[in-house]
Amino acid sequence: MTLTANRDEAVRMDQQDQLAPYRNEFYLREGSIYMDGNSLGLLSKRAEQTLLESLADWRELGIDGWMQGRHPWFELSEKLAALNAPLVGGRANEVMVTGSTTINLHQLVSTFFAPSGQRTKILADSLTFPSDIYALQSQLRLRGLDPAEHLVQVESRDGRFLDEEDLIAAMTDDIALIVLPTVLYRSGQVLDMERLTKAAHDRGILIGFDGCHSVGAVPHAFHDWGVDFAYWCNYKHLNGGPGTVGGLFVHERHFGTLPGLTGWFGSRKDKQFDMDHTLTPAEDAGAFQIGTPHVLSLAPQIGALELFAEVGIDAVREKSLALTDYMMRLVDEELAPYGFFIGSPRDHKQRGAHLSLEHPEAARICKALKAHHIIPDFRAPNIVRLAPVALYNTFSDVYDVVATLKTIMEEKEYAQFANEREVVA
Ligand SMILES: *Cc1c(COP(=O)(O)O)cnc(C)c1O
Repeated sequence: MTLTANRDEAVRMDQQDQLAPYRNEFYLREGSIYMDGNSLGLLSKRAEQTLLESLADWRELGIDGWMQGRHPWFELSEKLAALNAPLVGGRANEVMVTGSTTINLHQLVSTFFAPSGQRTKILADSLTFPSDIYALQSQLRLRGLDPAEHLVQVESRDGRFLDEEDLIAAMTDDIALIVLPTVLYRSGQVLDMERLTKAAHDRGILIGFDGCHSVGAVPHAFHDWGVDFAYWCNYKHLNGGPGTVGGLFVHERHFGTLPGLTGWFGSRKDKQFDMDHTLTPAEDAGAFQIGTPHVLSLAPQIGALELFAEVGIDAVREKSLALTDYMMRLVDEELAPYGFFIGSPRDHKQRGAHLSLEHPEAARICKALKAHHIIPDFRAPNIVRLAPVALYNTFSDVYDVVATLKTIMEEKEYAQFANEREVVA
């Protein structure tokens, strides 16, 4: 098919897209195509509205905003947890919106890493996000354990993907805890969480997942899979705003376990203001909160998560796969001669919500895309990461991105830019 015939096809796919109306819910820059919703999701009008309402509550009510605001702050974390729960397949009381990804990882590891006897190690992987590794290393150091010995990182065979067989083979009887991503941030590979959880539990090991790249894009069944814990951020696919409060899941079988890091917001809510020096922890995932919630950072999530409640994660996933299917096909048809390699899984079961196009000139290709008002993401050393987002991107966007990449390569436009990354890539 020629490129022009493909554009007509993209327009037809947009006309048939049930989620197309949701694009109008978001602020998109005129003449620009945003393909970076897996790093920072865009602002929606509803998220803006709930933020402004919370600001008005502060202006008008002061301290009474805690109980009498339009979105009472005292119950806000619980309210947002109930909206997050269907996205991760947790019961509402197994989820809490609190902290941030890295802080929640610290909280959960400090709770569930219980080295004893010969089980003293944490198992992770060599492709995971650096912050997770830094957190695991410091948790080991806090227990007087040397990370060089006690943090085991499973290698990838090809630098892109993890093989579940390799992960399972590394679940030896010196491992106390496993922490893995749901979706790898570079390649977008989805791990088989159900299988890994079963394998871990068969060997007496607890397992938790980092859901940053899947929550809001891929359905999960954390409760039914028996996952011990999980944590994620709400500023990527969930569009909650830069640095917005994160999420965590603790399986109900662990309710009653005292959190490693305690604070007064982990109290049973009816006891919190007793101001007793003996903590009465909440009987559910609420216990894992520490201090006062960042209300203005939570507020946009009310509107942002409402959109997901309305659309449902299955519809989001269906369109997301259709978008990446279409992008893969165009890349195969149009970009193969220019040395691009699709470093993401082709199989739906293993594919997350973005595609990684590998190319030795990736850094300057990203700069050339930006000069065309297309916003990709660069991941060193050689990845152009593109995330067509179900709620606000179109099939025409996908077409235009691939057509622009083709022009950039044909005309060697990338050669005008330096092949190095910016400070925020
Ligand atoms: C984005 C991301 C993080 C970021 O953690 P913060 O604490 O929110 O800065 C951590 N892990 C993964 C896998 C991510 O994609």
